[in-house]
Amino acid sequence: MAAKIIDGKLISSEIKQSLEKRVAALRKRGIIPRLVVIMAGNDPGSDSYVRSKMRFSSEIGVDSEVIRYPEGVNESELLGKIAELNKDPKTHGILVQLPLPEGLSERLIIDSINPKKDVDGFSPENVGNLLIGETRFESCTPKGIMRMLDHEGIAVEGKEVVIINRSNIVGKPLAAMMIKRSGTVTVCHSRTRDIKAHARRADILVVGVGRPNFITADMVKPGSVIIDVGINRTAEGTLCGDVDFGNVKERAGYISPVPGGVGLMTVAILMENTVMAAEQAR
Ligand code: NAP
Repeated sequence: MAAKIIDGKLISSEIKQSLEKRVAALRKRGIIPRLVVIMAGNDPGSDSYVRSKMRFSSEIGVDSEVIRYPEGVNESELLGKIAELNKDPKTHGILVQLPLPEGLSERLIIDSINPKKDVDGFSPENVGNLLIGETRFESCTPKGIMRMLDHEGIAVEGKEVVIINRSNIVGKPLAAMMIKRSGTVTVCHSRTRDIKAHARRADILVVGVGRPNFITADMVKPGSVIIDVGINRTAEGTLCGDVDFGNVKERAGYISPVPGGVGLMTVAILMENTVMAAEQAR
């Protein structure tokens, strides 16, 4: 039997509906949730990501603004703008769109965002909170993945969870969330020996490598849950993930598609974090 498709479009639209109500309640109290996105340089992928964030925010009534800087912007100018936004009581969420142009320190810039406005959940304070099991803002992609599992009623406790990605925005925070839910977690990366052996014993397999067809049907345990984080552009200009979707779905129990999967969840959770920031602001 073919796998059940985990429908990111449906789940994110449910999140959207609940956020619309929360934003309306805030607006009644005179609070207009506001997100500022800072962009620098001309990364080709960033424009479409930022456009989808802006679209979602306007649909739920969040006021959002993109501040664009040229490729050659200096660090102190960005830091100055972030310092100003940190103090602005009308701005609840600040996000720096990555990647930044070469020569700018991503770490320094992200670290300068007030953790109470860090809706991406990338600041050391928010990451540290996640590791010790307390949360304020959790990183959007992993939180979106957990929400997908919850929506399908998939329990993590006691399961073999294999994550192929160790980045700060996907693999590391996701591993912390899976541990918190009592999964038995393995994190794989480019130096892992025998990825296939790890993948094949996964009850829940999450892959974010950035290579089409990286996960083939022979790498998947029958009946398992497959979450595809990868975003790749094909020669024809369409999007695909890292999983050989057509064949893997015949073997897995659940599978998330690309497009229509994790990417939509990431944006929905960003907006949820922004609304939460506005609710928590004094
Ligand atoms: P990244 O920092 O480049 O991480 C890629 C990870 O894949 C690294 O941990 C890397 O290992 C590992 N890897 C690369 N080649 C491998 C191989 N042959 N075998 C095993 N592991 C390998 O990228 P990222 O920012 O995490 O993004 C990863 C992918 O997810 C990209 O396609 C990106 O577009 C997508 N993404 C999607 C969303 C979403 O919302 N859907 C959000 C974020 C990212 P090393 O650490 O050893 O290099």
